Amino acid sequence: MSKKVSHQDRAVTLIPGDGVGPEVMGAAITVIAATGVKIKWDRQAAGTAAFRRFGTPVPDSLIESLRRTRIALKGPLETRVAEGWRSINVHLRRTFDLYANIRPTMSFAGVHTPFRNVNLIVVRENTEDLYSGIEHEVAPGVVESIKVITARASKRIAKFAFEYARVHKRKSITAIHKANIMKLSDGLFLKCARGIAEKYPEIRYQEQIVDAACMRLVTDPGSFDMLLLENLYGDIVSDLCAGLVGGLGLVPGANYGDKGAIFEAVHGTAPDIAGKGVANPIAMILSSAMMLDYLGHQKAANKIRAATGEVLRAGRVLTRDVGGKHSTEEVTRAIVSAMSRA
Ligand code: NAD
Repeated sequence: MSKKVSHQDRAVTLIPGDGVGPEVMGAAITVIAATGVKIKWDRQAAGTAAFRRFGTPVPDSLIESLRRTRIALKGPLETRVAEGWRSINVHLRRTFDLYANIRPTMSFAGVHTPFRNVNLIVVRENTEDLYSGIEHEVAPGVVESIKVITARASKRIAKFAFEYARVHKRKSITAIHKANIMKLSDGLFLKCARGIAEKYPEIRYQEQIVDAACMRLVTDPGSFDMLLLENLYGDIVSDLCAGLVGGLGLVPGANYGDKGAIFEAVHGTAPDIAGKGVANPIAMILSSAMMLDYLGHQKAANKIRAATGEVLRAGRVLTRDVGGKHSTEEVTRAIVSAMSRA
């Protein structure tokens, strides 16, 4: 998942986001700057921040910037529950056809959880399923939400997962489904995954029903390697996986398409801690490392990952979600200082 970029000052759209977004984004920018990689940030508002300034959550200038740069580092955006505008995240992923959502979920030494050595890659289809947003009221008190699964999208996400497994030398992929109930839609997803799996005989392919998979994940996560999921299961299961390694403050993510990518943490706006300076910046910092990988700056990305691992392992400067009492800024400074010693 890397694109060689020749020019030094690569333009990247920067979306600080809502809630803790600007706080953790500030941390990511500081850490990227400390690698020496030069990025020309094109700062754009989206979501609630944009609505306040421009009267729309998706200003034209944001879409124009993304068309130009084809790459963004993005903070979380608020989506109100059962009211308000439709998710801007979903809108951006679909507009730019960012069909593959990758969420690597690893244990860190120094973060105490019931499991050690969790090493999971969640591959989530990003463009359809119940996120198609087709909902209507059939009669008063009766609503329908339509789940859309297509062979085209199912095959391409399966291919993406198997290619990722090949490049990153992963051993197995488990397709997670509910095809015992949704025989047509999840059945089609599985049929497509099986067809692609046949072309990658070196990677073990297995299937598991989503409820049983959740139980196995929270009892024996080491029995999984890569997970391949439709959109909704992927969203839910990746938060569950984050819980296995210490929480949402630690898990990065990327949305890839054939022509661009948006990098963002798995977590949301964390309204309960927004503005307090205590959000864990690590998920956003690790998302920025994934962005540097994509831009061909693997050395800088590895430096960030190593320094982050060192700070967690040392356990002296941690935010409170992972058992510490330090601020976002203090953790950021500790990571930059670990980078300078490397
Ligand atoms: P959330 O991820 O914002 O928060 C869940 C819990 O995790 C909270 O207790 C929060 O304090 C904690 N948490 C999250 N990030 C953290 C961090 N960096 N450091 C420490 N603790 C952290 O989920 P939610 O409360 O269900 O959603 C809040 C809002 O975020 C909603 O509007 C939702 O739509 C939005 N959201 C956006 C994205 C995105 O933009 N990609 C993703 C998920 C949720």
